Parts: sequence; C-alpha cells; structure tokens
Amino acid sequence: MFKKILIANRGEIALRIQRACREMGIQSVVVYSEADRDAKYVKLADEAVCIGPAPSAQSYLHMPAIISAAEVTDAEAIHPGYGFLSENADFAERVEQSGFTFIGPTPESIRIMGDKVSAKQAMIKSGVPCVPGSEGALPDDPKEIIKIARTVGYPVIIKAAGGGGGRGMRVVHTEAALLHAVQTTQNEAGAAFGNPQVYMEKFLEHPRHIEIQILADQHKNAVWLGERDCSMQRRHQKIIEEAPAPGIPRRLIEKVGDRCAAACKKIGYRGAGTFEFLYENGEFYFIEMNTRVQVEHPVTEQVSGVDIVQMQIRVAAGEKLPFTQRQIELRGHSIECRINAEDPVKFIPSPGRITTWHAPGGPGVRVDSHIYTNYFVPPNYDSMIGKIIVHGDTRAQALARMRTALSETVIEGINTNIPLHRELMVDAKFVEGGTDIHYLENWMAARKR
Ligand code: ADP
Repeated sequence: MFKKILIANRGEIALRIQRACREMGIQSVVVYSEADRDAKYVKLADEAVCIGPAPSAQSYLHMPAIISAAEVTDAEAIHPGYGFLSENADFAERVEQSGFTFIGPTPESIRIMGDKVSAKQAMIKSGVPCVPGSEGALPDDPKEIIKIARTVGYPVIIKAAGGGGGRGMRVVHTEAALLHAVQTTQNEAGAAFGNPQVYMEKFLEHPRHIEIQILADQHKNAVWLGERDCSMQRRHQKIIEEAPAPGIPRRLIEKVGDRCAAACKKIGYRGAGTFEFLYENGEFYFIEMNTRVQVEHPVTEQVSGVDIVQMQIRVAAGEKLPFTQRQIELRGHSIECRINAEDPVKFIPSPGRITTWHAPGGPGVRVDSHIYTNYFVPPNYDSMIGKIIVHGDTRAQALARMRTALSETVIEGINTNIPLHRELMVDAKFVEGGTDIHYLENWMAARKR
C-alpha cells in the first residue's frame, strides 16, 4: 500500500480523500491555491503545498506545479478527485511518466471514454444498450446525414464527440433545420473542444438519468454497486441524487449492471467509474462514462457499505477487489442534496464569509463538507460547498431524515440553495418518485408564474 498520496483537488472532495487516507494509515499531501490557503483541511493535512494563485488554470489545472509538489513531498500516488484534471488523459499519462501512480483508469481508457463517439462504439461492442443514432461520427455528405436522420426518426440531437458539461448539443425537430444545426454544432465543437466531429442520436423526450457505479481492479475483476437516480437537474447540473432509483424493476437494473461490469472487463477498465444512462419506457440508453469518482458517490456508499474512495486507492495499489458481485448487498435508501452557495431562486453565485454553520446530525445523516463558521467561500470555483446525505430503511424514512436534516442546517452570511431543497423534499411528485430530467426546470418555471 502507498505510504503517501497527493490530493490534486480542493473543497469537500479533497477532505473526503484525506479522510479515506487517514483511515487507511496513509499520509496525505494537499495542494492548494492562494484562495484556499485558510481552508481547514489544508491546515489539517499531513503536508500542504501551495501550487499557485486562485485561477484554476494557474493552480488546480497546472500540471507541472502538481507534479513538482508530488516530487518534493515524495508522494507515491496522485488522486485527482472529480472535475479539474480528473478526466484528462494527458495528465494521467504525465503522472505515470513521472513515476507516480495515477489513482484512476489508464490514460487509454480515459481517452476512449473522453471521446463520445469512441466511447459509444466501445459500449456497442460490449453489449451495453445505447441511444439509437448514427454509427460513429456523421459523414460529410448532406444526403447521407438526411438519410441517417430519417432512419433514426425526429426529433434528433446532434452531439459533439468531444463535448462535455452539457455543452456542444443541439436538438433538431425537422428535416428543414437539420443541416444548418449539424454545421453550427460542428463549428462550435471545433472551436470549443478542438474536435469538429459530431454524431446523431434520437432525442428522448422524457427520460430519467440513471447511472451505474462500477469498481474494477487490475486482475480482471469488476463489480457494479447498484444504480443512482440523478434526474433532478438544472442546466444539466445534478442537485439531488438517490439510490436506488424509485420504481424501476430490479431485473432490468441487474441486466444493465451486469452488462456494465462485463464491459469493464472487456475494455480492461480499472478503478471506479460510472456508466450514465437515459431511461425511458423501460429501456436504458448509454450516454457516457465518467472515469472518476462522482460527486454523488456517497449515496452508493450508504446503500452498499463500500467505501468507494478507499477502493479506488486499493485497486490503484494493485490489490484485488475484496468482494465478488454476489457479496454486494444493497440495503435501504439514500438521498443526497448538494448544497450550493447561490441564490435559491435566481441561482446567482453567493461567495463570501460564512458567519454561522450548524451541521445536521442524528441517525443516518452524513455531511460531506469542508466549510466551517468563518470560512470564506472563494468566488473562483464551483459553487458547491458540501453535501447532506441521508440513509434510511425505506425511501420514506430517507425523505423524513432529509427533511429533518435540512431543517436543522443553518448557514448564515451567504445564500444557499437549502430553501430550494426544503421545498423539493415535500413536493408531491418528487416524494412519489420517478420524475424525469426536465421536472425541476418545469417546476421552477411554474413557480415563477
Ligand atoms: P455531457 O458530457 O455534456 O454531460 P451527455 O451526453 O452526458 O453530455 O448529455 C448531457 C445531458 O444532455 C443528458 O443528461 C441529457 O439531459 C441530455 N441528452 C443527451 N443525449 C440525449 C438524448 N439522446 N436525448 C435526450 N436528452 C439527451
């Protein structure tokens, strides 16, 4: 096992990884930007290295600074967390070339999954169900494009192979609008992602977002740890996640979960990963794979009892997964609310000093957050400042625990989206379960009227 790990991230996930290291008796090195100098997890780290000024490009995205920090502190491995460099194949490669272990999949796996066309092709080969659409990137011939769209059937969505974060997509409802949309998306994709390739999919009108968590080791073992429902989204940003997904027959989920684990073995995947699907009318459609730990990993940890971050570290060190698929038992129900420093109605970011922080507690309540009273939320990064996660025997109990937890939580000095979560936890449709990916935005639009 590693003796020392460098954490190439910030905020709640840096603290989460630090906790995993502590529990495993591993020393951790935290890197930080000048904006994060006073963060408590930085002060509590075994070692901390400043890697540059506040802007991410000069700190958390600055590869040479991170690698030098690993060199001067004698760290053996680097955990990238999520966001920043976590899905950057070049970074993974540089880490390994510099003699460190990258806690994540191989650069090749990251590369394949980072290109949506190649990811989809790999999934089709492995028997994972995908959204019907073009076979690979769209050809140049306009007649061919029109033909493909007729076969797929309108509405279709044009997506950039190199797209991410909900960017580089365009929905097309009629043939008249098709070629112009393809051209525009290609131009935008070329400029934004350096790759003008686009592909076509059937546009699903009312899907839910369901994802499968997998873990794979370097000895050809792979398991899936159940699913998460992340349909509560605003602008493609998830805000509430839960496990299991309400109302989906277990046998359907088991079928798709087994396919995901089999695909991991087939492509030689290692580490933690997530297969994201749209789910509509009883069918799963793969949309992309995330090759890193996800923000919402705690709900899976709560129902499976598996520490996903510790498993990432173990398999990176070459250990075998300590369980087989049959030994995975999912118990109860878990819900996560992402707490963002933002206006709960207008969603304007609300950085600044937290004057009061009172955390919720009690049975089945977990708080993953790096904040504290007097903590200054820097304006430079994502607005998420923490997560409240609950677990109960049933979904009803989890909902009740979340309502109580949210009622106990006090954050003063900045605005947060806690009022929004309080409303959603008593919303009849959400409480019923099974809302689609448009539900939250429609709900907000209705509230405005
Ligand atoms: P990104 O990497 O940018 O997040 P995804 O492929 O995961 O891109 O898609 C992001 C979101 O776009 C999905 O969560 C879904 O809301 C929507 N989307 C993508 N493909 C489709 C599709 N074929 N039909 C309907 N919605 C889609």
